[in-house]
Amino acid sequence: MEERVDIIMELEKQLVIAIDGPAGAGKSTVAKLVAKRLGYIYIDTGAMYRALTLKALEEGIDLESEADLAELAQNTEIKFIKAGAEDRVVIDGLDKTEEIRANKVSNNVSIVAKVAAVRKELVRIQRGLAQAGGVVMDGRDIGTVVLPEAALKIFLNATVEERTKRRYQDLQQKGENVDFEQLKEEIIRRDELDRNRDVAPLKKADDAIEIDTTALEIEEVVNRILEFCKS
Ligand code: C5P
Repeated sequence: MEERVDIIMELEKQLVIAIDGPAGAGKSTVAKLVAKRLGYIYIDTGAMYRALTLKALEEGIDLESEADLAELAQNTEIKFIKAGAEDRVVIDGLDKTEEIRANKVSNNVSIVAKVAAVRKELVRIQRGLAQAGGVVMDGRDIGTVVLPEAALKIFLNATVEERTKRRYQDLQQKGENVDFEQLKEEIIRRDELDRNRDVAPLKKADDAIEIDTTALEIEEVVNRILEFCKS
């Protein structure tokens, strides 16, 4: 009973929860479940960078041209649309939920995400989405840049071996065949680019709680975060 009262109080407070971490650390799975349990909205900021990357690839935009990418960010409409239990990602009116997860997008997204003007535009949208509270947002710079005032900041991590294993299984399930060692190299490279870029690099916020998910079940991670919410 006491626990229920606690949860209802949290709901009324409509917190903002930031979850950051490297590729494959379990952010989106965990963030989605935490949002569901609290009745909050889940916002996947990686999907926004992926959306712009997919559109750039489809339109043959030069990924080295910061000006072209900045223009693309200004002229792209990205929407998250609820379809039952699922969130669909709609780019300029077209459902591209599956396409943004393709390995080709993963391997180019960090190039797009390092452009300051691209980040400026997406961060503006992300802050708008979090304004009313009741949000779990995941990404790389949520606790450090997008929502530095978030009530709870989590930094999820796992060994590169485990993170590769998770991505490998995801891709296999979708019928995309990749080589494990190559995928590992790609993940290492993406993290390196994300960690070392000039603007809003992947970094644990000083006041974030780090959770190593290598040996943890998803439920365990979710429950730990819900406990932190209560306290
Ligand atoms: O989370 P996900 O793996 O889908 O993110 C894809 C990429 O988007 C990251 O590797 C990173 O380059 C970029 N990203 C970012 N900032 C965020 C979220 C994602 O730079 N807040």
